[in-house]
Amino acid sequence: MSQFFSGQLSQLAPYTPGEQPKDKNYVKLNANESPYPPSPGVAAALNAREVDGLRLYSDATAIELKTALASQYGVRPENVFVSNGSDEALNFAFLAYATDGRGAAFADLTYSFYPVFCDLYHIQADVIPLKEDFSLDPRDYYGRNQTIVIANPNAPTGLALSRDEMEEIVKANPDSVVVVDEAYVDFGGESCVPLTQKYPNLLVVQTYSKSRSMAGARLGYAIGNASLIQDLETIKFSTNPFNVNQLTMKAGAAALAEQSYYDGNCQKIMETRDYTTRELEKLGFTVLPSKTNFIFAKKPGLAGAALYQGLKERGVLVRYFDKDRIRDYNRITIGTREQMDILLEKVRELLQV
Ligand SMILES: *Cc1c(COP(=O)(O)O)cnc(C)c1O
Repeated sequence: MSQFFSGQLSQLAPYTPGEQPKDKNYVKLNANESPYPPSPGVAAALNAREVDGLRLYSDATAIELKTALASQYGVRPENVFVSNGSDEALNFAFLAYATDGRGAAFADLTYSFYPVFCDLYHIQADVIPLKEDFSLDPRDYYGRNQTIVIANPNAPTGLALSRDEMEEIVKANPDSVVVVDEAYVDFGGESCVPLTQKYPNLLVVQTYSKSRSMAGARLGYAIGNASLIQDLETIKFSTNPFNVNQLTMKAGAAALAEQSYYDGNCQKIMETRDYTTRELEKLGFTVLPSKTNFIFAKKPGLAGAALYQGLKERGVLVRYFDKDRIRDYNRITIGTREQMDILLEKVRELLQV
């Protein structure tokens, strides 16, 4: 830290992304990226004409992409906000809805970026423990008078609430914004997007990073009541009006025209997830029932850190969280069937079975 860094921020502990080591070619199952490439139309959209167009600022209204997303989700363009990764939409939502003393409520085991935003903006955070089995009790979130943030399906657990359970939470907080982070919803979850038509306090955030194979393009979006979207636009135009670059917007719109390709990938990933779960269970692992593109697994008698380290030495990267309650677990991204067979082979080698 320099002597010039704001005292307001001196205690800030930044978010730690999944590692991207370059020392060897790992089977990379640590950041919930897709093992499949973007659809052919995405490459075609990033053509010489688009490269020439880089002279110009991108469209700050993002109207083409908003229109495409709106038609995909059965809403209107004014119900859509686009962001530089969904992390930015989440960032703006914390800034917009929790900084005036209202505070924020979220689970103890969830996306670890939420507490960072709270630190950054000096937001009072109410951290609500998940139940013993890592499920979330919706009743813990009724009538809170705080901004509520729920990742559904949740990370790193992979567990999901139904749309009906989410609706009860939204209904029980008419005076607070409920942010639903649906980064993983395309892998078997139930989206709350249809509820945004009915509840003016519901903001749903999604991303291209997982199910649409575009983590590197940095594209996310939020869907909600037009007045909520206006709030996010106000923050965007007060910080970075050109938050999403032109190439990414083109790529994002092109991907929507090939949705069936992505649906097929999600289907494959869900099948591979269920296969990997069964195989790990045969090896004595406990695997939480996942609605995501990762599984959260532990093996009684094998420390989480030991599994992580043993796999890393064998060229397979998974994610380990050195944190209370989940120290025994690893979060394993679902790759291709071939990648998962390598994982399983290395696990067997480690267990000497
Ligand atoms: C991956 C992830 C995100 C966001 O990722 P972006 O790449 O910024 O879109 C948001 N929430 C959760 C729970 C995630 O796992």
